[in-house]
Parts: sequence; C-alpha cells; structure tokens
Amino acid sequence: MIPHRDRALIGAVLDVLVPADAEPSATNAGVLEWLDARASTVHADLWRDVLTSGFDALAAEPGPVDERLLRELEHASTREGWPVSPERFVAALVRLAAHAWYGRRDSPAWRSMGYAPGPKRTPGAPVRHATLQRTPLAQVAASYDVVIVGAGAGGGVAARVLAGAGAGVLIVERGRFLSYAEVGRDHLAHHRFPAYGHNTGPDDPAEPRVHVPPGGPERMVGHAYEPEWHNNAMTVGGGTRVYQGMAWRFHPDDFRMASRYGVPDGSSLADWPLTYDDLEPFYARAEWELGVCGDGHAHRVQGRRSVDYPMPPLPDNLEASVLRAGAQALGLATGPVPLLINSRPRDGRAACVRCGECIGFACPTDAKNGTHNTALPRAMATGACTLATGIRAERVLVDGAGRATGVAVVDLATGARREIAAGAVVVCAGAIETARLLLASATDAHPDGLGNRSGHVGRHLQGHLYVGAFGLFDEPVQDMYGPGVSIATTDFMHDLGEEGIGGGVLANECVKVPAIFWHWALAPDTPRWGRAGKQAVREAFLRTGHVFGPIQEIPSPACRVSLAHHVRDAQGNAAARLSGELHPESARAGRALQARARQWMQASGATRVWCDPEPIPRRLTGGQHQAGTARMGNDPATSVTDPYGRVHGHRGLWVMDGSLHVTNGSVNPVLTIFALAYRCAEELARASVA
Ligand SMILES: Cc1cc2nc3c(=O)[nH]c(=O)nc-3n(C[C@H](O)[C@H](O)[C@H](O)COP(=O)(O)OP(=O)(O)OC[C@H]3O[C@@H](n4cnc5c(N)ncnc54)[C@H](O)[C@@H]3O)c2cc1C
Repeated sequence: MIPHRDRALIGAVLDVLVPADAEPSATNAGVLEWLDARASTVHADLWRDVLTSGFDALAAEPGPVDERLLRELEHASTREGWPVSPERFVAALVRLAAHAWYGRRDSPAWRSMGYAPGPKRTPGAPVRHATLQRTPLAQVAASYDVVIVGAGAGGGVAARVLAGAGAGVLIVERGRFLSYAEVGRDHLAHHRFPAYGHNTGPDDPAEPRVHVPPGGPERMVGHAYEPEWHNNAMTVGGGTRVYQGMAWRFHPDDFRMASRYGVPDGSSLADWPLTYDDLEPFYARAEWELGVCGDGHAHRVQGRRSVDYPMPPLPDNLEASVLRAGAQALGLATGPVPLLINSRPRDGRAACVRCGECIGFACPTDAKNGTHNTALPRAMATGACTLATGIRAERVLVDGAGRATGVAVVDLATGARREIAAGAVVVCAGAIETARLLLASATDAHPDGLGNRSGHVGRHLQGHLYVGAFGLFDEPVQDMYGPGVSIATTDFMHDLGEEGIGGGVLANECVKVPAIFWHWALAPDTPRWGRAGKQAVREAFLRTGHVFGPIQEIPSPACRVSLAHHVRDAQGNAAARLSGELHPESARAGRALQARARQWMQASGATRVWCDPEPIPRRLTGGQHQAGTARMGNDPATSVTDPYGRVHGHRGLWVMDGSLHVTNGSVNPVLTIFALAYRCAEELARASVA
C-alpha cells in the first residue's frame, strides 16, 4: 500500500501525468492500485527517499496541483520548502506512471497507439513446447565421461555432439528449466526491459557482483537485472531461451582483425587461430541442426557459403519495404536478417505466428530455436546425457599434474555439496562465469587459477556497443508483424574507411513493446507526460523507424573479470568483479556506423532523424553478448586455450562458450558460439576415442 495518507493528492498528480482524453485517466485505469501493489517492495526505497517527502512538500504548495505547477517543478533542482529535488520527484513519478500506463498487459494505451501483440497467422502445425527431464543431485552418478558446466548455447551443442558420439555426459546447470508460462510475458520484467526484474535466472536476489565503473569507485551489484551485473540469462538454454535469434556468421575479416587493421594502442586486438573457412562447415551445421531461416544469397558482404539456409526467410514487414527503398537510393545492398526461428513448421515444432512479443520472451509456439528445444533434447534422446538443474559448479578439480578430474558442485536449493569425477570437464558457463570458475579453481600448484599461467583468464571481456538512428515518418512504418527485425545491410561490416576500424551490421529492430518505446524511441524534445505526452506516443508509435547494430569491439586487457575476495555469495564463493571501459577505437567506429544509420533513415524518407546513444557511453560492455575471457590461440603465452578450446596446461579441461572469442565480430555472436562448440566438441569426441 502507498505509504502516504493523501491518496487524493497522489491520484490528482497521477491524473495530471496521465489525464483522461479518449482513454481513461491514470486513476480510472488502475494506476493507483498498481502503485499500491509495489510500494512496499520494488518502490520501497523510492517512497522512503523521494516520493513521501515530495508529496508532503507538494501538499504545502499554494495553489492548485496542475500541469503548470508540475512543469515548473520538473525543471527545478531545488525549491524552498522541498527537502528533495522537485526535478527528481517529478522524474520518478513520471517514470512510474509511464510504467503503469504503458507497461501493464492490455493497457488501454496499447489499443490507441496501435500496439497489437498476438498471432498474425496460424502456426501451421500443433504447438508443442519442448520439455526436458531433470535428475536430482542425489541421483547423479559418481563419475561421467564428460561433465559440462552450463546448459546454454555452447553447453547445449557440446552435449549434443558428445552424447551423440557415445560419451556419458552430465550437464550441471545452475538455473532452472523454465516453461513458457514461467518465462511469462511481463513487459516490465523481461530480458529486454528488466525494470522490475527479469524472466529467467538467476533468481532475485542474485549473488552479488562487483562493478568498477570508469574512474571508480567500485560498487556491489545485488540484482542480476541491473545493467552493471551484466547478466545474459541463467536457465536451461542460457541466453538462447529468450534471445532474438539473429543468426549471423562472422565476416572472414572478423577472424583477422589485427592483420587487417594493426593493433591500436592499449588494445589486445589479435587474430583468431582459425579462419572463416575452418569454421564454415560448422556454421552450416549449426544453421541446419538448430534451424535458421534466411536467404543465403541476399547479402553482398559475407563469407563463402557451402549451403543455403534450411528455411526461407520470414516475409518482410512494412518497415523493411520502406528501408529497402532508402537503401537502394544510397546504393546499399540489403537482405533479410537470418533468424533462428521456424519460418515454417520444422523438427516437429510449429512456425512463428509473428506475434510481436519476441526478444526477451519465450516463443508462444516454440518456433524460436534455442538449445533448450533442439540440441539438448537430442542429446538427452541418446540416453547418454543427464541434466541436473539448480546445481552450480564451484570448482574444477585437477590432479597433481594439472589434469582435470571432475567438478565440485553445490545444490543451490539445499546447499548439499558433491564432487563428481569426469574424464573431461567442459566449461560453458558464459564469459563471466567461465572466467570466475577457472579463477576460483586455483590450487597450490596453480595459485592464479586454471589456465592462467599467462594471466589471460578473465581479460579481454567484450560484448557489443550498439549504435543506430531513429526516424520519424509522415506515414506509418510499423505494422506490428513480429519478430520485427526484418531487413539489414552488411555493407558496413568492414567499410568505414578512415573513420574507424572494423564496423558492424545495421538492421531494423524487433517490435518494440510500448514501455520500451516510451523509454527509448521518442525524439529528444517530445513531451513525455500529460495530454501532449499521451498524444505524442499515439502519433509516433507506428511512424517511428529504427535501424541499429552492434559494432565490432576492439578488445582491451583492462576489460576484465577478476575475483572480489571481499564479497561472497551465499555459498561463500568470491564474487565476480567487472572492470574496464570501452576502447576509444570502438567508440570511433560506433560514431561512424551511427552516421551511416542516420543517412539510411534520411534516405528512407524520415522527416526527423536522431541518433542513439548520444553521446556514445564509455562503459564496459559484456552483458548479453559477453565474450573473450578465455580466448583461444596457438601460443600459451597470449591465450587460454588452443584452437579447439583445450585449456593450455590442463589435460581434460576444455572451454566451449563465448569466452573463446578472440574478437566478438561485427554481428551478434551466437551462431559463432554454436559453430565453435560443434568444432571443439568433435575434437574432444575424437580425442577421447583416440
Ligand atoms: C534477450 C537476449 C537477446 C539476444 N539476442 C541474440 C541474437 O539475436 N543473436 C545472437 O547472436 N545472440 C543473442 N543473444 C546473446 C546469446 O544468447 C549469447 O551470446 C549466448 O547465449 C552465449 O552463449 P554461452 O554458451 O557463452 O553462454 P550462455 O548461453 O549464457 O550459457 C551459460 C550457462 O551457464 C550457466 N552457468 C553459469 N555459471 C554456472 C556454474 N558455475 N555452474 C553451472 N551452470 C552455470 C548459466 O546459467 C547459463 O545457462 C541474446 C541474449 C539475450 C539474453
């Protein structure tokens, strides 16, 4: 319940922020009750620090509480009689009112702005959601041929290959298996907009992490949904449970960045120990086994392909046709975005119904292909693969010669601990937790952690800086056909000339849910509340276009996962400490790609164009595209693993996730993670037989 006596005043303020027009006002739409439900939990600190004293001060203001007064307060950092900043008070209230107004399911705002989630076509086959059998820790055997840590992108593929080759495999996954209903459709608490939590693991409150922003000081981060925690998704499937499924192959030059561009000061830019051609057969295998839709001939700038995609692309949405015309005017080649989505029924599962609630959510027809519904069920169907969830690996065990002998795990629900023996250990815990686990597995003989003789474990942490441009058009450019991401150009992957090293792909965006649109996509000086604010959203929602994309990051050794021994999780393990900042060359390339995005919007007919982010932030990346912390290489002095993911100096210890990436590409990373995992796991299967 709201901890303030004057509900009439609060209601009056909310009705100024969200007044009645053709739609109901905030109080008539239940916003007060929504605030009541959160006042003692997620908003408790805000009421204590800002809102309660702000409402007291507001009650003492002479004259009516109306739009004029709120606009005055909105621009006042201090004011006589106000113990809190009026500006901060109004900003906080505006944000809460917007969350309640735009973010609640089936808000009246959705209809009037034109947001229409739900199936736009039939699934073409019965809808069947994959499910997987889990084995409690007590029933897990004493030893396995292979123990895989993490059932995400890399771990799922590794399990598929190794169990398929006849190895007895145990996967320990710290997250839970989440059904479609459990992932849910909360627009304010999902992986794209985690304002009130997220919809996969880790459960809240999460174990702490320590974040050191540029210039410090360090801060403990206790909620995994805070951006500084750099979460991906901790559940069966890892990030693939809720991802968008953009399935790009890296460009051949992405594997030889140092040779092509030289090594910028302060960076650890390096070539991969393998080429695009080495990985090509595994890209093809990932596309066919997991299921990608696309057009293999569409993009001008791409590596050689041995085979087309197994499914045709999803049809264009409206925005794609508008942007295609603009690209043609600029001489840019475009094509559909390859997606790990069934464009037609496949593999016993239905097709995408184009619902428009895609990225950050699970798929209502299970047409989005992650490891939870492809590689993992196939691994388990062999009968040779056991999945234990809610189990966290705390240490990799090694013998006196440094050979991996198993893992020490803890059951997160009961606190029970066990050691499980293994012929080989494959670490696939995501770039932050893989580094943390290798570091935490230090022994007297390996005091700095496993594979860390040369000090590279945890360094070179990178993700993707995203840049782009919005455009406001005279006519609607959005038709609500999901997933929304539909057209891209690869022309700028390595074509920024003197303006930057590397580059990136530019694509339009997935359908924006209304709360995200309000936060992110309104032009800078647009009114955000009041009658004018409501009208602005209604008028802009369908008329706003957006292109953006990831920039190839220039890695730096200072971007780093280390252990914070002074901060511990509930089981007593040292927390991950994340430090470093974006390399200036990444920012420079980001500005150059942003300029290309702006031109594309203008050429497509936008009457107003603005860039995002503005200015480019220096902060550490990582998060959903985290990579690089156990980079592969030929030389143990400059890398953590060999070109197959074998950790230098430790027989039987392998890494097969995004940590291996020497550079993280000019596109989204997951198809490369899948391809590498196929290649490395095949090598392990071969090595075990030999
Ligand atoms: C909303 C969203 C959208 C995305 N969209 C795209 C996209 O369109 N295209 C793209 O290429 N990429 C996308 N990604 C990123 C992609 O999902 C990741 O790059 C990929 O999942 C990383 O694979 P991984 O194997 O390195 O780690 P993960 O998939 O993160 O798997 C690691 C697993 O290890 C588990 N784990 C961690 N520590 C331990 C431990 N100690 N013991 C046991 N288990 C542990 C975790 O719980 C997790 O399940 C998206 C991600 C998100 C969240």
